[in-house]
Amino acid sequence: MQALFEPKLTPGVSLGFLENNRLVLRLKIIYYCDAMTNQPHSQQPSEKNPVKAVGLISGGLDSTLAAKVVKDLGVDVHGVYFAMPWGCCDKAMAQAAADRIGIKFIVLQLDEHYLEIVRNPKHGYGTAMNPCIDCRIHMFTRAAQYMKHIGAEFLFTGEVLGQRPMSQQRHSMKRIEKESGLEGRLLRPLCAQLLPPTIPEQEGLIDRNKLLNMSGRSRRPQIQLANDLTITEYNQPAGGCLLTDRNFASRMRDTLNYGYRNFRETIALQWGRHFRINDKFKAIVGRDQRENDALLRYAHCDDHVMIFADKAKAGPTLLLKGEAPSDDILSTTAGLIQQFSKYKDDAPLEIECWPVSDRNQKRTIIARKLDASEIGKMYI
Ligand code: SF4
Repeated sequence: MQALFEPKLTPGVSLGFLENNRLVLRLKIIYYCDAMTNQPHSQQPSEKNPVKAVGLISGGLDSTLAAKVVKDLGVDVHGVYFAMPWGCCDKAMAQAAADRIGIKFIVLQLDEHYLEIVRNPKHGYGTAMNPCIDCRIHMFTRAAQYMKHIGAEFLFTGEVLGQRPMSQQRHSMKRIEKESGLEGRLLRPLCAQLLPPTIPEQEGLIDRNKLLNMSGRSRRPQIQLANDLTITEYNQPAGGCLLTDRNFASRMRDTLNYGYRNFRETIALQWGRHFRINDKFKAIVGRDQRENDALLRYAHCDDHVMIFADKAKAGPTLLLKGEAPSDDILSTTAGLIQQFSKYKDDAPLEIECWPVSDRNQKRTIIARKLDASEIGKMYI
């Protein structure tokens, strides 16, 4: 095999080979494929053709500040928001922050692939079931794909060195950068001066002197900078997503162990009280009207809905997960409805149930009386 040419398409690398008398072109895209955008990497940015960057935007203070700092350096910023269903940030706030700063905004969804990361994270969990390092790698990898797609020069985040115990330590930040395929292309503007210079800094696309040197858990420097930049509206920092919550983590673990049918079912883990009836059935009892409605919105077509037959009686909505439940299973779950209502000490009441897919298959079941220890054993 003979190398024919090696054109200068840095940092994308293109090689040509003669193989069995056929010309074989191999394009190995590392960060940036010139062919995608028809804009050579060497082209100097100008007012007409500014440097493009992708920034992760949560609507929180740090990512808002980072976006503002980068935008003020004349960069064309594309904000990417990850729709994390067990929310540590709010999409409307993120969109509002992007609008206020004047940057573009796109939303990327997490999906079943993310659940497999939660099930078996390469770098382990944080305080509960939060795979923060793997989570960041996943998000950064996907944002890097978007970066390549639009021909951006680098990705940036609002991370601050040492702010979070798991994902914002120096060694973790380095590992995340490497495993996301972003070596040299991941800029952390709020603490960049404490980290090695990135490629856009080395190439003079970004002025390192205009970047910052924040570190640690104190929020004071960020608040001071927000004042300086007249940023007044932002999400208060959250402790993390629901995966950091032990109760939520138990429900997630149960779901991953016993199986789920689609991603939406895991979104609904944030609402209601959850009970494992057996290997095949699980019941969720809404705690208020908002949760009752949310459970119905996120129900699977094979689930069953259960409520008091007597419409004059106020009680929770119960969603029974699992296919073709027996009368025995139905009367046990009916007992949960009565137990979590003001009629828990009354004689067993009638409960209506029907499959989500067909309300015409409605039937009535008598609730079974459940004692506290039985309920405690089922509680997830
Ligand atoms: S707290 Fe949740 S969303 Fe944030 S990095 Fe960790 S796992 Fe990901």
